[in-house]
Amino acid sequence: MELKPKAVFDYFAEINKVPRPSKHEEKMIAYLKDFAEKNNLAFKTDEAGNVLIAKPATPGMEGRPTVVLQGHMDMVCEKRSDRVIDFENDPIETFIDGEWMRAKGTTLGADDGIGIALAMAILTDDSIKHGPIECLFTRDEETGLTGAFAIEPGFMTGKYLINLDSEDEGEIFIGCAGGVNTDIEFEYYAESIPEGYVAMRVVVDKLTGGHSGDDINKNRANANKVLARFLYDISGRYDMKLCSIDGGNLHNAIPRHAEAVIAVPEEQKHEIRSDFNIFAAAIQDEYHTTEPTAEFLMESVELPETAIDDITANNLIAALNAVHNGVYEWSQDIPHFVETSSNLASIKMPEEGKIKIVASQRSSTHSQLDAVCNVVASAFNLAGADVLINEGYPGWKPNPDSELLKITVEKYKELFGKEPKVRAIHAGLECGLFSEKYPGLDMVSFGPTLRGVHSPDEKLLIPTVEMVWRHLVAIIESL
Ligand SMILES: [Zn+2]
Repeated sequence: MELKPKAVFDYFAEINKVPRPSKHEEKMIAYLKDFAEKNNLAFKTDEAGNVLIAKPATPGMEGRPTVVLQGHMDMVCEKRSDRVIDFENDPIETFIDGEWMRAKGTTLGADDGIGIALAMAILTDDSIKHGPIECLFTRDEETGLTGAFAIEPGFMTGKYLINLDSEDEGEIFIGCAGGVNTDIEFEYYAESIPEGYVAMRVVVDKLTGGHSGDDINKNRANANKVLARFLYDISGRYDMKLCSIDGGNLHNAIPRHAEAVIAVPEEQKHEIRSDFNIFAAAIQDEYHTTEPTAEFLMESVELPETAIDDITANNLIAALNAVHNGVYEWSQDIPHFVETSSNLASIKMPEEGKIKIVASQRSSTHSQLDAVCNVVASAFNLAGADVLINEGYPGWKPNPDSELLKITVEKYKELFGKEPKVRAIHAGLECGLFSEKYPGLDMVSFGPTLRGVHSPDEKLLIPTVEMVWRHLVAIIESL
């Protein structure tokens, strides 16, 4: 398999010799500085460690608007358990597997090393005719968007920005979601459990789960919501006590597991068990497509000493059952694109007397993000909980009338004789932060095809690199 364009793959090979785990990009910054000096290009960094390398316009094209090519310099460092590597010092070793490039037992670093390599090759190619170019290489995208958060207005001056951190050749991204986590806290009294009660553990398990952004429109069940639905259903009909509850884990994952320990009078035990079986069958029927592996369990356990006081337990169960979960609004501009959503991510009892809940909201529209956070807050405020809506990060609202998008689509059709897909994603990108700091900045995002990113299976589809290169050059020449 020939590696074309040679310059792009040569730079990618060099980059993979430079260790660059997220938050440890010092060597990469030094490498880029050295690259700029060798090629007589202007170089600057900011306090966060973002790097900007500028290339002047081809003579006669100084009046053209400046275009920014942008990628992130850090990479996710994951490895197979049997692979020995020191990511802070050792190079990434690559090999060719048919049409794919892969790494020996580690992430490949094509996310986003290939984007950096594309930009570097543009910076050193004197055969391309273009206006002023700025290449922005950001720090620590993967573990907190640190560089993009810290970028100051004025650090770059471009009118257009092309983000080279997308993973599907033929798809052009024009929007992303902002995100906010909402922290909810209930306080309760531990009450003793009356005589004659027995305890049961109720478990919802092995749901499909997924990413709370990308997968929120796939009709998957949320384990916390399923459990709350059952608890609400039985709480009015039995003399139930809620002893404990636990569900979900990460704020950005759809919870796959939730469980509770309840106590009921011994004589109601059999009836509750049969209700649970009916409930489980109904859920399995409702979600037979998206949750084929779902499991439901009710088992007798030792009676705990105390339960959550009745008022708090009832408020908690009602709020969990009432709160919005899943898609909240669809985009009015892009068909089938989720504009706004919420995920009831986790329910924990980290210490005696407290129940902590995290819900995660996303939207590509700033005002909708506020709105859905308030919807979540309303349900829990009504139930007497303390609610804290955190800071979060902004979205990038799709602009179907973008001039850069028009040229990007036009050039793609000219080169490849087909329509590219124009899409937005319901997850965070650095472009959201740029759009906040640089209102009016016209942006698109695309890149070569990657699979298995953030895992040792990460691989790069080699022929798509040349396609992206040709597309990029055509756009730059015509802006
Ligand atoms: Zn990336």
